[in-house]
Amino acid sequence: MKKQFYTLMAMLVFNITANSQNLTQQSVDKAGTVIDKVIEAYGGSDKLNNLNTVSVEFETTNYAVNQSRKPGPPWDENKTKGLTVIDFEKQQFIAKVESLTATQEFKNTTIINGDNSQQIDYRAQTTAPIAEPDFMNTAGPFIRVTPALLVKQLMQRAHTAHYLGQSEVDGSMHDVISFVMEVGPSISLYFDQKSHMLNKSERVVGAFGMVGYRFHDYQQVDGIPFNQRFELFVNGQNNMLRNNKKTILNLPIAAHTTVNNKLTIAAPIEPDPLSRQKISEGVYHIGGNGTYAMFIEMDDHVVAVGGTAGIPERIALLKEVVPNKPIKYGVLTHHHNDHIVGAQAYADEGTVVIAAAAHEKVISDSTENKTLKIETVKTRRKFNSGDRELQIIDIGPTEHTEHLLIAYLPKEGIMFEADHFGARSFEHIAPASPAARSFAKSLKRNNIKAKSIFSAHSPVAASADNLKTAVEKAKNLTNKS
Ligand SMILES: [Zn+2]
Repeated sequence: MKKQFYTLMAMLVFNITANSQNLTQQSVDKAGTVIDKVIEAYGGSDKLNNLNTVSVEFETTNYAVNQSRKPGPPWDENKTKGLTVIDFEKQQFIAKVESLTATQEFKNTTIINGDNSQQIDYRAQTTAPIAEPDFMNTAGPFIRVTPALLVKQLMQRAHTAHYLGQSEVDGSMHDVISFVMEVGPSISLYFDQKSHMLNKSERVVGAFGMVGYRFHDYQQVDGIPFNQRFELFVNGQNNMLRNNKKTILNLPIAAHTTVNNKLTIAAPIEPDPLSRQKISEGVYHIGGNGTYAMFIEMDDHVVAVGGTAGIPERIALLKEVVPNKPIKYGVLTHHHNDHIVGAQAYADEGTVVIAAAAHEKVISDSTENKTLKIETVKTRRKFNSGDRELQIIDIGPTEHTEHLLIAYLPKEGIMFEADHFGARSFEHIAPASPAARSFAKSLKRNNIKAKSIFSAHSPVAASADNLKTAVEKAKNLTNKS
């Protein structure tokens, strides 16, 4: 009897403790209290509910962290200007962006508008239908850098919100709320405890790491505070500064969804699943969804070229057709962060990585284990086996990078490069970019006569004629302007 009494008491005490300290309930309740004050500070729930269209004109400075011509700082700076427009009711989203930097010529518009979604390239004078448009996925980046729209999202998705705690930002205390948007990882929002303005946010994005945003210079637009400036940080490094020049609310946006009918209609933008293409005897181009690698069969081993995302899956597809030869070498074209992710996959395979000497440190720093073996190429290295000759050549400098390793099979006339001359299709050829123009010059300088140019971001090969046409078109463009 006594034992039962104590058990009952123990259960009672446990229940009381669990209820009063239930972290989930406390966190949800506290988040609700903070969100209520934030909604008021952003104009109130009626104003936010009625906020349907937003258009923002901006100018951006991009700091090319781990994407510059050199492997370390100071990073190259690129300026762009553009316009972003969103209509929540009609699920329409328009993003226009144009380069203001001489080394990066582009002027593009993305229109998400149901079956009339398009990707326009004004230099190429083409418009490509987007086969599977996704409003939230495409508009997400704009919402994440526009605090008023984040608060509107938070209001609609308050059921996913938790209170994380309080933290100091620039000397004042902030409440930190996390919530999840329809797509992507959860986002932490830092609201000033006095003004209730969003000054900072953060997300942990898979392989990229910690992506942070800072919002500055609030001004009222029709009774809703909008930031005039934001900064983007990746793992604490400043990647972007944007100045918002003009913010307009609740005006019809139909004019932005019309497409000039003089533009040539290009091949539709469709999902591109992983696949293997045999391009010559023992030579394979394997990839999908924007990243591709080349594999070259030698007598008793394979040489892989390219280090973008998904190398393990690409190796698996190769092993279906070349099961008994190890990948002895893996060539990394250059030091940019999206082209060295494959280093870890090669280390795991026991593959020797081939890289430009200037990129050795960046590559070895990027892998977890220090067992990675790297051999460097100065100007040109030849691999011979049976009838096969493979050359790995540093054709840098180009407008894109100081050093660039390309793979060249002189007998077959095949080459593989990264980031200089690629496209989803070469049916309509765009004027060559500054990087493509310097690439064409480098090929001449190095006496490379490739018939087919395969690329790290292209599902299809370009011909030598395609490159010539692109360079000619760029010349004509310069002559006209
Ligand atoms: Zn690159």
